[in-house]
Amino acid sequence: MEYFDTFTASFEGYARYLWHEVTTPSWGNYFYWLIGLSGAVYALELLFPWRRDQPRIRRDFWLDAFYMFFNFFLFSLVGFAAASEVAVEAFRDALAAVGIDNLVAVEVASWPAAAQVAVLLVVKDFVHWNVHRLLHRVPWMWEFHKVHHSVVQMGFAAHLRYHWMENVTYKSLQYVPLAMIGFGIDDFLWANLFATAIGHLNHANFALPLGPLRYVLNNSRMHIWHHAWELPPDRRYGMNFGLTFSCWDYLFGTACIPADGRDVKLGFPGLERYPRTFLRQTFHNFL
Ligand SMILES: [Zn+2]
Ligand SMILES: [Zn+2]
Repeated sequence: MEYFDTFTASFEGYARYLWHEVTTPSWGNYFYWLIGLSGAVYALELLFPWRRDQPRIRRDFWLDAFYMFFNFFLFSLVGFAAASEVAVEAFRDALAAVGIDNLVAVEVASWPAAAQVAVLLVVKDFVHWNVHRLLHRVPWMWEFHKVHHSVVQMGFAAHLRYHWMENVTYKSLQYVPLAMIGFGIDDFLWANLFATAIGHLNHANFALPLGPLRYVLNNSRMHIWHHAWELPPDRRYGMNFGLTFSCWDYLFGTACIPADGRDVKLGFPGLERYPRTFLRQTFHNFL
């Protein structure tokens, strides 16, 4: 009963939050930031296209735009925010039952905000880099991750084209490490917006010249190889797994840019038979 109350309360809370986001534009508003960032990166694609012959409205542009809003906002409304609150509460109860009532190992909440944002970005991205490697390594996880790799023409919105099971996997696996440094599930607008901007740029048809910073920040020249149809024989489980930062790949030997990847063929073997609509991609693995 207690879990049911948590579920309905957070579902209502999320619905109210979403309505508030849409109806009240402000500087702290994710909904309008997502629109603004997307518009800015799309403008860069139109003004300085990396692949000049790629259509302005590339294949799956609208599908990806839908995924973007679904994964960022609507999926939580379907019940994920509520379900994850219940999972967190059940997890806390289970820990309390064995005598652990606080996971915090390093308390960063008293640090200056900028330092907290930096720690959150780095820790979360390192967890995500590891989860992303798992998505490529574990066969049932790869089945869900294929949605993201089914992109054949790359553009900014492909960033948030992924199956909702990825949300579940990332968020549940990041819970413990983030709780250990005293963060909740989605703290800090700025950290999330920075990650969104870099993720958009990684996927954009625009190659931002980063200079030596490319060894720290992920970028389109590197990430396009992550989407390559054909992988080098010694990289059959993938390469360039970085999300926001590229340094993990350089540090752990998974970085690989064999040539200029501007026109490399994207996708994976068998893509010809892979579903192409949102509903089919969403239910493909369950039917
Ligand atoms: Zn991947
Ligand atoms: Zn990608």
